[in-house]
Amino acid sequence: MKIAAVRGFRDILPEESALWQVLESHARTSFAAYGFSEIIVPVLEKTELFARAIGETTDIVEKEMYTFIDRDESSLTLRPEGTASVIRAYIEHSLNHKEPVSKLFYIGPMFRRERPQKGRYRQFHQIGAEILGRDDPLIDAELLLMLNDLFQALQLDVSVDVNSLGCSECRPRFRESLRAFGESKLAQLCENCHNRLHRNPLRILDCKEPGCRQATVDAPVITDFLCDLCRQHFAKVQGYLQQENIAITVNPRLVRGLDYYCRTSFEIIAHGLGSQNAVCGGGRYDGLVEQLGGPAVPGIGFAIGVERLVMLLQAQERYLSNAPDVFIAPLGEAAEGRAFSLARRMRQEGYRVELEGGGRGLKAQMRRADKLNARHVLILGENELNAGKGTVRDMQTKTDRPMAVDLTLPAPAMINVIRNVND
Ligand code: AMP
Repeated sequence: MKIAAVRGFRDILPEESALWQVLESHARTSFAAYGFSEIIVPVLEKTELFARAIGETTDIVEKEMYTFIDRDESSLTLRPEGTASVIRAYIEHSLNHKEPVSKLFYIGPMFRRERPQKGRYRQFHQIGAEILGRDDPLIDAELLLMLNDLFQALQLDVSVDVNSLGCSECRPRFRESLRAFGESKLAQLCENCHNRLHRNPLRILDCKEPGCRQATVDAPVITDFLCDLCRQHFAKVQGYLQQENIAITVNPRLVRGLDYYCRTSFEIIAHGLGSQNAVCGGGRYDGLVEQLGGPAVPGIGFAIGVERLVMLLQAQERYLSNAPDVFIAPLGEAAEGRAFSLARRMRQEGYRVELEGGGRGLKAQMRRADKLNARHVLILGENELNAGKGTVRDMQTKTDRPMAVDLTLPAPAMINVIRNVND
């Protein structure tokens, strides 16, 4: 009997992994420009870390974690998110003594036992970043700016929802007001929201049930409850973004699934993904480092869902091409030897080169070049070898330029000639 992968866990095949590389390399470039360094943390942590960081009453901790008892009786969990581990490492290695501000990013798999569907898996991947050590609005704006740069570089059309969740001073008043409001609408709220009202009333704003959405249309909004400091902080974040012409939508209903957020919180929504359309979520978590036994250091971060972004990239034709820059078709043994070193020289310069040969005839090689969507083929037959010049075939126009390329040219110059011949 065949053995299939575990439900919600998937293989990423070469066609898709090529797009992961596109995403990852753009992310690394943006992160480097803003001064972030990579941190690589384990996928397995003590269960207690997530219970304390994410919050006992969140969906993740209550029912979605992959937790098991190890042979020494300790309870371990496959990480459902990255922030808790980064902070654990930050505290464990006293990174705050090394630098006043730590800008860290991570890339890797996360595990949540959710109901799998398109864009939602039990093993999925996140690219995340955290800034620890600064709580001024400039930092929040900078993080959003970096995300904006990244999405722009990927040419993806997204909208950014931003809210302020207040602080420990002002949020309790909002929570109580929301709870009272919910109590007055009990009959219209779903069972889940009845529970939420007692444990974490903010989450009723996040419920997807149409009845609950309807019932909470007139719910109190956090923006009316913010204390002066939170209000000023939020206004400044918006001011910096306006200054740079970054479009955001202030969405007072935005709350997040994890308990640790305060002040600036945000979500990035993509168009064309169906119901699982959030591609990035994040926000400020000023008390969290202390709560996990570390120094009183503020923090802010985000996590991007790799699978969902890759789905967006897949929908774009320009990312689909894995066509070689040049396809080399040698005819005969001597030509194959020459093609072998030509291909190497070009590849060393970073060009994608397909080399056929293997004693195959011109026709068979052209069929293969077509299949790979090669635009240009460099043909090396006996005449070409004698002249030291290759023939270029433009596969789109099906025309040849006999002896067009001097085979002694440096690789980049050769590629230029090959590409320009019939363009
Ligand atoms: P969160 O850590 O819940 O704030 O999620 C941040 C981002 O990770 C989301 O916006 C999604 O893009 C992605 N994500 C979260 N859960 C899943 C999942 N089960 N499958 C795929 N992507 C996910």
